[in-house]
Amino acid sequence: MTEHAARAFVLDRRPHREQDLRVTLLTEHGARVDAVALNAQRSKRRFMGALTPLALYRVRYTTTARATRLDEALVEQVWPALARGLRSQTAALAATGIVRAVAEPAPHDGALFLLLGELYTAAAASDDRDALAARLVRFAFEVLDHTGHAVALDRCVRCDTPAPDGARVTVDPHLGGVVCRGCGGGPFAMSAADRADLRAVRAGDYARGRAEMLRWTARIIEGVSVDAAGSIAGVVDHFDPR
Ligand SMILES: [Zn+2]
Repeated sequence: MTEHAARAFVLDRRPHREQDLRVTLLTEHGARVDAVALNAQRSKRRFMGALTPLALYRVRYTTTARATRLDEALVEQVWPALARGLRSQTAALAATGIVRAVAEPAPHDGALFLLLGELYTAAAASDDRDALAARLVRFAFEVLDHTGHAVALDRCVRCDTPAPDGARVTVDPHLGGVVCRGCGGGPFAMSAADRADLRAVRAGDYARGRAEMLRWTARIIEGVSVDAAGSIAGVVDHFDPR
């Protein structure tokens, strides 16, 4: 039996048996922890905030050979704007869903934990759909980079030939990016302008963000995780209904 203490985000929570909750945590150390919180549907004292996502908790949990038990969760930080602003909340929940879909247990790599906290702070700071989309697009690509699913938008994923900046290209999500004509091409055509905007936002130029970019991002990510793409698609429907 080993006891652990860490700061953590709740990636998922679902009722378990009569009164328990089953939660998925992402700790500051990069661990992805699936734990059972006994009596959590009732005990608001041991599990402050009822273990809802979009808050930062300080948790204690115990691992045994058979299971992991969450002993306590105290709220350490909340982002009130995420509770008030529907757009901000939608973006933050989508980011949580992306991490839940693609995060592997990666002890000693706190990158996803940091990225998610930054995203919550950024989402809480704005209600503008283009600004939120820009944050979410960059977040999604960074999460893919950190989980070994880097997407190539500047060169062919098969032969490494650079794609000229002004070129319309084709993309194969399952291969992880641009595929040149010589290598057989991909199923989706991406205009030079769309690609330039995506690359700019990915590099941190948030001013280039547009809500429509989320459609491309969802499509590209579908090759890595259908669930992650679904999280983004939910935001697309909310921000940019068509
Ligand atoms: Zn090629």
